[in-house]
Amino acid sequence: MAERKPSAWLPDWARPTWLAATTASPKAKPAPRTIAIAGQKLPLVIRKLANARQMSLRLSPDGREVRVSIPQWGRVRDAEDFAHSRSEWLAQHLAAQPQPTVIQPGADVPFRGALLTITWAETLPRRPKILADRIELGGPGNSLGPRLQRALEAEARRLFADDLAHFCARAGEAAPRLMLSRAQRRWGSCSSDRSIRLNWRLIMAPDAVRRSVVAHEVAHLAHFDHSAAFHAKLALIYDDDLAAANAWLKNEGRGLYAAFG
Ligand SMILES: [Zn+2]
Repeated sequence: MAERKPSAWLPDWARPTWLAATTASPKAKPAPRTIAIAGQKLPLVIRKLANARQMSLRLSPDGREVRVSIPQWGRVRDAEDFAHSRSEWLAQHLAAQPQPTVIQPGADVPFRGALLTITWAETLPRRPKILADRIELGGPGNSLGPRLQRALEAEARRLFADDLAHFCARAGEAAPRLMLSRAQRRWGSCSSDRSIRLNWRLIMAPDAVRRSVVAHEVAHLAHFDHSAAFHAKLALIYDDDLAAANAWLKNEGRGLYAAFG
């Protein structure tokens, strides 16, 4: 049954059971669940986690979705009540979202954990050049954003390919297919046909953070779940501080959505 088959793509944070918003027939498109926070209507996504002992609530990395995780035995209704009871907390977090960065000469964009100043002059070569403290480019001043994003995506693809080769060698895995993702709500995903998608925005994060996401997806090539065996594999192949990288993503990851929205 096609509608019962899980998606081949398992976004990393959503690997556990998805809960349909309604229990209507699979053919009927369920109305998305939403929650009003500070005058904004945000999607409310509830998921069941096999290893969760209690409910937990958070905003998605881009701040555009509210997520509640509940234990397997939890009730959807309780998760909804829980989210509503924390609406003030959510409003505070929403207000603390990073301000969008306007891509213009003189603005700073994050790159591999540092800040680069956009340096534009009509006389400079059109192709963006990434230097230690700035990105230089010429060409039309009204297309800086798309051109800079393309340059960063190209760098992301190049570094991801290196990262994948490194971790696949450590894991004893053949190199999978790499795809760059522009997903708004996930950093990486791994499919059952051995393709790995990685969010281009990770090029803006420190190297150790970007590499931790690649290592995570490579570990999924061997274990398509978050079992103890998966975590053992990840610990084996990732050669840096995993807890620090996870904490960075949790605390700072949202900042990677401030530019190039
Ligand atoms: Zn995962």
